[in-house]
Amino acid sequence: ASLLRGAAFITGAASGIGQKTALAFARNGITRLAITDINSQALEATKSLLSEEYPSTEVLALPLNVRDAAEVKAGIAETVSRFGRLDVAVNNAGIAGKGESTHEIDEEEFGGIVDVDLYGVWRCQREEIRVMLEQEDLGVRRGRGAIINVASIFGVVSPSLFMAQTAYSTAKHGVMGLTKSDANNYGRRGIRINAICPGWIETPIVTPFSREAGSPLSQYVEMTPLQRLGQPEEIADLRYL
Ligand code: NAD
Repeated sequence: ASLLRGAAFITGAASGIGQKTALAFARNGITRLAITDINSQALEATKSLLSEEYPSTEVLALPLNVRDAAEVKAGIAETVSRFGRLDVAVNNAGIAGKGESTHEIDEEEFGGIVDVDLYGVWRCQREEIRVMLEQEDLGVRRGRGAIINVASIFGVVSPSLFMAQTAYSTAKHGVMGLTKSDANNYGRRGIRINAICPGWIETPIVTPFSREAGSPLSQYVEMTPLQRLGQPEEIADLRYL
């Protein structure tokens, strides 16, 4: 709860899990919130939504591509210059593949997915750590800051029962390695780093995939105890647990 007195920064905040996380932060009382996304139109719409529902939250909307290290650095610098500190960072921006296997995917497509889903998280995390290391350590609960990476169930287990997602799964396993490695390295310096691994969640990222009987998505739902896709607010807001 003490983190809610701080300032937060979220990537991929214009849609899905990122947008619901922004709304959950505001609903739970965070007053300084930087929302960022490559889609500037949807980002402005999210800013309006936040301002209407939570007028006491100060919202900074920054168009930012996580593939561009200079944009990431500038966005985090602007957040700190506006809010004075960076307490919570949610590295959430991501894209899915089309489901190709390794022998089908070309280097450009493989690299493009890894560049957003793994390097994108790394670019943000590196900058967030640099900023947090310079901040005062506020003690047990707040420390110097907290970083939350949105990985995936396919960063833990193989997706191949359902569909290949070779680049996506490779990238998300990488995010888990980055999270564990840096959690160990920076925890002792007051920065907590964790990852969330959602299963299939009903957001625009799953829209391209068929839901017909026998499709990978419907097979996944059949195997799921609740027999349905998750909802983004169930990832964003721990009250749903
Ligand atoms: P989404 O498509 O609704 O949201 C992703 C957001 O990221 C979009 O607003 C998009 O514009 C933004 N984005 C994409 N590329 C970007 C870039 N280069 N720079 C900045 N922003 C960029 O999808 P979502 O389901 O909310 O996905 C959010 C995260 O959750 C992703 O990392 C995704 O891999 C992960 N995830 C999703 C699911 C799922 O089933 N939906 C499951 C596990 C993990």
